[in-house]
Amino acid sequence: MNKEELEKIKKKALEEHIPIIMDDTLEVMEKYLKEIKPKRILEIGTAVGYSAMCFTLFLEEGGKIDTIERESDRVKQAKENIKKVGVEDKINIYEGDALEILPKLEEKYDAIFIDAAKGKYPFFLEQALRLIKQTGIIFADNILYKGYVMSDYNKHKQRTAVRNLREYIKEATENPRLITEILEVGDGLAISKIK
Ligand code: SAH
Ligand code: MG
Repeated sequence: MNKEELEKIKKKALEEHIPIIMDDTLEVMEKYLKEIKPKRILEIGTAVGYSAMCFTLFLEEGGKIDTIERESDRVKQAKENIKKVGVEDKINIYEGDALEILPKLEEKYDAIFIDAAKGKYPFFLEQALRLIKQTGIIFADNILYKGYVMSDYNKHKQRTAVRNLREYIKEATENPRLITEILEVGDGLAISKIK
């Protein structure tokens, strides 16, 4: 992989306020992913491909990432970026709404990274539970959403997102199939291991 290109893409994404994964979040995920040595990773929310390209470093030999993005401009940029960095053989992009694509997927994954519309997190978790392997891990980024989720905050236009993120946390912590931790890294990261 061309790491210099990856750095340039990261810098540009930050300048353009594209919400790419934060360094400390990536560091935590790296620890977990290196332990499970994933062959198959599913990502919901590609943006310009930054996190997916970072995850290629943690794949087992011959492993592959599927990532879903609904904005066609972003898919186009992601494809260009992935080519520049030289990881096209490791990333497959599904263009379209994850709400429609997820129910059609059948293959099981070692790790799933949820990083798209916050109002849809409970649905993403339901699908992730169907698609995760018995030894897998489900990650959800932005789970604390600028601290709103753990405060008594509820009168803003972000209200639906906050309600759904709280619902995700409730389901992830109460579901008997999961062991979940909520970490205050980055914008909040939920990590759920399958029991
Ligand atoms: N994972 C990326 C950042 C993703 S930002 C990284 O860390 O580099 C969130 C992305 O999810 C946006 O590009 C947005 O267009 C996409 N998105 C939001 N809701 C979606 C949905 N329902 N289906 C597909 N993509 C979605
Ligand atoms: Mg995010």
